[in-house]
Amino acid sequence: MVEKILSNLEKSNCSTDNIFLQAVSEVLTSLEPIVKTDSRYEQFAILERLVTPDRIIQFKVQWLDDNNQVHINNGYRIQFNNSLGPYKGGLRFHPSVTTGVLKFLAFEQIFKNSLTGLPIGGAKGGSDFDPKGKSDFEIMKFCHAFMRELHSYIGARVDVPAGDIGVGSREIGYLFGEYKHIPRNYDGVLSGKPYAFGGSLMRPQATGYGVVYFAREMLYQELQESFEGKVCTLSGAGNVALHTIEKLQQLGALVVTCSDSEGTIYDPSGINLILLKSLKDEGKRLSLEYYTDSIPTATYTKKCDYPEYAHPVWSYPCFAAFPCATQNELTVSDAKKLIENGCVAVIEGANMPTFPDAIALLQREGVLFAPGKASNAGGVAVSEFEMSQNASMEKWDFDKVDRKLDELMRQIYKRVSLTAKEYGVERNFVDGANIAAFKRVAEAMILEGV
Ligand code: NDP
Repeated sequence: MVEKILSNLEKSNCSTDNIFLQAVSEVLTSLEPIVKTDSRYEQFAILERLVTPDRIIQFKVQWLDDNNQVHINNGYRIQFNNSLGPYKGGLRFHPSVTTGVLKFLAFEQIFKNSLTGLPIGGAKGGSDFDPKGKSDFEIMKFCHAFMRELHSYIGARVDVPAGDIGVGSREIGYLFGEYKHIPRNYDGVLSGKPYAFGGSLMRPQATGYGVVYFAREMLYQELQESFEGKVCTLSGAGNVALHTIEKLQQLGALVVTCSDSEGTIYDPSGINLILLKSLKDEGKRLSLEYYTDSIPTATYTKKCDYPEYAHPVWSYPCFAAFPCATQNELTVSDAKKLIENGCVAVIEGANMPTFPDAIALLQREGVLFAPGKASNAGGVAVSEFEMSQNASMEKWDFDKVDRKLDELMRQIYKRVSLTAKEYGVERNFVDGANIAAFKRVAEAMILEGV
């Protein structure tokens, strides 16, 4: 059954959708052993319906730069599945955005949101707009133009977008600023808003902190290990990476690498987070090259100095590795290096950063592997906490959100590891996550009817 669905999908999707097919293939392979256990899955065509988005919305975004030149970008929202609740998922602004990339992200989001146990469906959106090198005013004009097109498809009980690559609280602020003028209401229609008007404390930290809470629980339960005094490597230098580093350092780890789209830093004395934030935080996108101006003992490697499929950050000895930049950035050769160097765990901060053959190798060699749909679900969970606060007109303090996030990440770990055990694939957190998430969504789809 799974093979037939995959082959039909290949025929009906275009070649730019390969990344979507990669994500679907991983999930359906995990589900193969369980689809036969309940005849309703076939009767209600659950798998076929699950791999088909409810709708793909595409629109033109036209805007003026600071020299009054006209620019046109593609804007998208993919509403994939709302069986568990309103559509929920981030917006990505990056030149690599296509319907294929967003279909993969929206599909993954269904499973991630299901794993949180919260009432939220799966969606994703964005644009091929490149925020790099744009003035603050240009970012604002682009966000306003984007929202003029998007507003009629979203709503606090319909679809609640958040941030992702290239979209932080500044962009969400501008998007919300335009939204509230159009239907003239103050709905919590976006999450990740600045705290000054409806945002939740801890939303900026939530994904990175959540990744570390998940990792801490997994390492403690599986190996009785902690991060105290351990060397960790990491990719990325954006929202997820910065807050993963922050929490790892708070727990006593030494994080020695980070990267951006142009190069990588290796700092054996531990990444200086204040310096890194001064280069990268809140929409600043200065090159990592400048890091070595302040810390000459660190090494900067420019991207063109290494082949695409050998990422320097994964070549250093470490206890645990955290890919936090983007999809398909950790290859099978990187996995081999990590294994040779004694890495015991790979925890995904980004969405699907590890190639399927690299995952298989890590698992075969006994490295604990946490898939992003489980380990990075803290961001969307705190987004849902923001929706709850908006709906009840409340403001929760930092400690309350932090405690709830920590507890939720432990619950996700428990759900994933118990499911893996139940289905005879102990410590396979990929299968555990896919099966646990699927069962909750499938049950809702069956109960709601066709
Ligand atoms: P940011 O835009 O804040 O940072 C992204 C980082 O990755 C930057 O350092 C960027 O470098 C680098 N990067 C982006 N594209 C590439 C590329 N093609 N090759 C190499 N490096 C690249 O995004 P986030 O930190 O928010 O997101 C990172 C990942 O985490 C994504 O996979 C996202 O989907 C996922 N995620 C994010 C959540 C969130 O709450 N923000 C929630 C759950 C998952 P540069 O600065 O040079 O562009």
